[in-house]
Amino acid sequence: MNNKKYIPVPTDMCIITTYRCPMRCKMCDIWNNPTEKSKEIKAKDLEMLPHVKFVNITGGEPFIREDLDEIVEVLFRKSPRVVISTSGWFEDRVIELARKFPRIGIRVSIEGLSVVNDELRGRKGGFDKGLSLLLKLREMGVKDIGFGITVSNNNSADMLDLYRLANNLNMEFATAAFHNSYYFHKYDNVITNKEEVIGNFEKLIAMQLKENHPKKWFRAFFNNGLINYIEGNRRMLPCEAGLVNFFVDPYGEVYPCNGLEEAYWKESMGNILQTRNFDDIWQSEQAEKVREKVRTCPKNCWMVGTASPVMKKYIKHPLKWVMQNKINSILNKPLCLERKWYDVGQSPEQGNLRHREK
Ligand code: SF4
Repeated sequence: MNNKKYIPVPTDMCIITTYRCPMRCKMCDIWNNPTEKSKEIKAKDLEMLPHVKFVNITGGEPFIREDLDEIVEVLFRKSPRVVISTSGWFEDRVIELARKFPRIGIRVSIEGLSVVNDELRGRKGGFDKGLSLLLKLREMGVKDIGFGITVSNNNSADMLDLYRLANNLNMEFATAAFHNSYYFHKYDNVITNKEEVIGNFEKLIAMQLKENHPKKWFRAFFNNGLINYIEGNRRMLPCEAGLVNFFVDPYGEVYPCNGLEEAYWKESMGNILQTRNFDDIWQSEQAEKVREKVRTCPKNCWMVGTASPVMKKYIKHPLKWVMQNKINSILNKPLCLERKWYDVGQSPEQGNLRHREK
C-alpha cells in the first residue's frame, strides 16, 4: 500500500520571468547576472502550472520582456489575482499592459524619496518615473496598485514618508528588509545601524495601528517580524515554504522560496520544462526532500511570500498580538512589541542560527 502523503495544491506562486534588469540597485545584484533571453521560460511553458489564488510576477524587471502580455494572459487563466513587481522604468509598457488587463496588480519598488531612491537604485529619475506611473494607473482606473520598499541601512527614515504618501494616495504599501540569497546574488546585506532602523519600524507600527483597517494592523505584526529578523532572532512563526507556495525561476526550476543560499542548501523540486504535469513535481520524492530541508532550514528569512501563509495558518498568534496592541494604541498606552517565538510544533532545528557560526 502506498502511504505517501498527498500534498494539497498550492495557493500562491511566484514566477521569476527574467534576471535582466535596467536598474543598478545596491542591495540586489540580479542586474549583474542577467539571463540569456533565449533561455528564459516562455508563456507556453506556464500552461502546466496549477490553478492558485495568487500569482506574483517578478524579475529582474518583468517589463523588459516583450512577451509579458502572453505570460499574463496564461497566468490570468491560472489565478484570479496577478500582481507584477516592477521598477516602473518601462512606463509605456506598464500602461499598455494595464489597458489590456485592467485587473492586473502593479507594485512599484520605491526605495526612498527622490534622492535616496535614485541613489539606491542606481538610476537617475527612477523615483519620478515610479510615482508618475502610479498616478497614471490610478487615473486609468487600475485599482490594485501600490509601492513597496526594501529597507536597508539608509532608507528607513524615508520609509515613514513613503508610508504617509501611500496613505494619502490610498495605495498599498509593502515593506521588506534586505536579505542575502542566491536570488539576489548578495551575501553582504547586513543592517549595521540596527537601532535607527528598528526605531523607524517601531514608528511605522505605531502609525499602522492607529489606522482603521485591520489589514494595516496585520501589516504592523509583519513589521514587528521584520524587527525580529533585523535583530537576528529566530522567525516568530515557522517557515513552511514549498507547502502552499512555490517559485519558478527563469530556467523553469521550481524552488520553495527565493531566500536560499548555496552556503546552507539550495535544491530545486523539479523543472517545469521536463514534465507536462505539475503534480509530477509537487508530489515527487524530490519535492518532499526539499520540504524536509525547509523544516530544518537554518535561515530566518522574513519575507512576505513565506510569512503571509503562516500568519494566516497560525492566525491566533497574530490576532492576539493585534488585539492587544490595537487596544493599547486606542488607550495611548505603550505598545507591546516584544519579539516572540511562537511554538506551533515546528522543528527546533529550524532557524537554529547555524549561519552565525559560518
Ligand atoms: S527560512 Fe524559509 S524562506 Fe528562508 S531560505 Fe529557509 S526555506 Fe527559504
